[in-house]
This record gives sequence, C-alpha cells and structure tokens, in this order.
Amino acid sequence: MLAERLKTLAPSSTLAVQAKAKALRAQGVDVISFGAGEPDFDTPERIKAAAVEAMRRGQTKYTEVGGIAELRAAVCAKFKRDQGLDYAPDEVLVSCGAKHTLYNMVVALLNPGDEMLVPSPFWVSYPEQARLVGGVPVPVETQERTGFDLDPDRVRAAVTPRTRVIILNSPNNPTGAVFSREALAAVARLAVERDLTLVSDECYEALTFEGRHVSVASLGPEVKARTLVINTCSKAYAMTGWRIGYCGGPRALVRAMTDVQSQVTSNPTSIAQWAAVEALSGPQDEVAKMAGEFDRRRHLIVGGLNALPGVACVMPKGAFYAFANVSGLFGRTWKGRETTTRLAGSLDVAAFLLEEARVAVVPGLDFGSDAHVRLSYATSDALIREGLARMDAAIRKLL
Ligand code: PMP
Ligand code: GLU
Repeated sequence: MLAERLKTLAPSSTLAVQAKAKALRAQGVDVISFGAGEPDFDTPERIKAAAVEAMRRGQTKYTEVGGIAELRAAVCAKFKRDQGLDYAPDEVLVSCGAKHTLYNMVVALLNPGDEMLVPSPFWVSYPEQARLVGGVPVPVETQERTGFDLDPDRVRAAVTPRTRVIILNSPNNPTGAVFSREALAAVARLAVERDLTLVSDECYEALTFEGRHVSVASLGPEVKARTLVINTCSKAYAMTGWRIGYCGGPRALVRAMTDVQSQVTSNPTSIAQWAAVEALSGPQDEVAKMAGEFDRRRHLIVGGLNALPGVACVMPKGAFYAFANVSGLFGRTWKGRETTTRLAGSLDVAAFLLEEARVAVVPGLDFGSDAHVRLSYATSDALIREGLARMDAAIRKLL
C-alpha cells in the first residue's frame, strides 16, 4: 500500500528515544533521559514577549514564503556579525526548523542516484532525507583518535562522478567535534576542484567550547559561491518548539529551495518568525550564559563517563553531546528480568541501560557507529550525577 521509499525509511531515533522516555515516565517509571538534544533552558522572556506582541498586532496571517523581510534582514545581519558573511535578502531562506531547510536542500539538489557524502558519525536525519528523494548517502569515516575531526583524504577518496553534495556539520552531532580549519580548507578545495556543493550545518555554532568555529563559506568567495550555510534558532535560543531554521547560499539554490517550500509548507509560523527577529537581533548575552553552563556540564559528564568501567569518551569541543565508546562492555552478559543477553552492540547497551539503569541514551548505530552511545548533556547537574551513578551500578552487575 505504501510507496517504495517507505520500505527503507527509519523514523528519527533521537526523537523516538525521547518519546520512549516520556512514555515510561507517564507510566510512573523514573527514567533519566540523555536522549533528544534540546536545551533544558526556557526560551528567553524577551523572545516570548516579541511573539505575544506580534499576535497582538495581528501578525497572524500568511507571510512571504521565505520569511518576512524583517527576519531575512536579521538573518543577513547575523551572518555578517558572527561569520563575516555577506548575503542579500534574496540569498537567505527561513524554514520550519533546520531539519526542514535540509529537506528543501535534498529536494532541490539530488537526482535519483546522486551521492551525498556524509562524514560519519553523522546526525540521523541526513541519510534518511537523502534516501527519501532517491539520493544515495555515502558515509565517510572520521577517527576517534583525532577527536572525530573531518578527514579530507577519506572525503577525497569517496568522491565519484555521481557525488553532488558534501555535508559538513561542525560542531558535530553526535561527536561534539569542531572541525579544524585545515580539514575544512582541504575539503573546500576539493569541492571547488570537483564542482560539488557544500552544505554546512552550523546549528551548534553558538555552542563551541574549544577551538574556533569556522564557517567553511568564509574561506573564500569561490567556496561561498558553492556553499549553503544552515543554522537554527533551536539551540542557541532554546527555541526547539518554535521551528525556525534558516540558511544563506547561492541565489539560484535558495530560489529553488524557496519554490519547493512554497509547494510544501508555505511560510514558517508568522508568530515564531517575529520571535526569531528578536532572538537574532536583540542582546545576545543569554546565549553566552547558556553556552557557559553546557561547557561546565560537559566536563562533569565526560569525567563521569570515563570513570565507568568499560566506557571511554573523548572530550567533545562543542554542541551538547557526549559520544561514549561502550565497546569495552561488549561480550559481558546482562541478566535482565526476562532475558539473558550477551552485549554485542550499541542497541544492546542502550536497552540494557534503559532497563537496568533507567537511563535513556541513543544507540550509536543510528549515527553510523555501533561502538558508541550518545548522551545529550542538556540536562541538570543533579540528573547527570544521578544518571552516572545508575549506569555505574548497572555496569557492575554485568557478568
Ligand atoms: N542539524 C543538526 C546537526 C541537529 O542536531 C538538528 C537537531 N536539532 C538539526 C539540524 C535540526 O534542528 P531544528 O530542525 O530544530 O532547527
Ligand atoms: N537534533 C536533536 C537530536 O539530535 C533533536 C532531535 C532531532 O531532531 O533529531 O537529538
């Protein structure tokens, strides 16, 4: 009954883990969730007030498909202020979250059979979105020993005549890597040489704790001319529910993505757009405050994970995820309530942690590495400490 493309579609596992933890809590099970990545902070008051004010003014109708002029101007100013990038208002597009921006991109760029290179580990939605339009996602490994930095030699080796797009996500979800300027520059040269489009997902740019966030588009005009820079209000302003993502890029590509959006969703919510104007243009001090909090929690969780027997975690440099290597637990036996399992992969470890420790994590398999599990530390110190203690007690029960 359903279309062929649904045969391979995996639902978002990050959202699924979050939903499962919520359902268990509703049943009275006390689960600590390190699942979906969303800030635990509330949206700042000034942003909420701008939305209320917009409603009062009657800004509740359809807007321009690609976003109100005020928001596109604010996006241009943000790119200039933070990345030194110059975009005209018709070179930016506002969508219903960066996930939507990315989907507009694959629809606009990939023909069936076209390949999209995805440095691995990767965020779960890149490959699935490419497959939905008949594209072929090609994972390109990064190495744990380099802190999962982008590996230009492997990217070069993965290019074929069918390659169209290279995804760059720094700071990275799930590894927390901040790609080095040298690696980005090498991949940018490759893109120019082979006439490829770069898609730079910079959703975690505001959460860079070590190293410097480099927007690949800032590496030169010939690079910018083939790069789509994507960002979102979700993370920097704790606005995940408002659904505002945005991008800047070559005019023809942005035009094409706007046309796609015009047939699929029309404009993002008018009220949320006014809130986003305030988010991007108002005082930015809460952003630094939230980032400082995440930075502190990063040390707490990574220190705790490395103290667990059989677990090793590289220090992430950005975003709010710890990508812990749990392969040291493989081969150990877990006697569950109903079954006995020899832990053999990240799905087993995630199931074990959920049942035995009542801690929800996302299996690394969904991000391209079965040796890992991902923990979002966008949660309180108390819950991080309690979650670590529970994991420690559960691991000590393994045979
Ligand atoms: N890119 C990455 C790497 C993400 O982790 C996420 C999830 N927040 C998104 C894009 C999409 O974010 P949103 O749709 O909330 O803007
Ligand atoms: N991007 C966040 C995550 O990876 C939120 C959930 C999602 O959209 O995937 O957990």
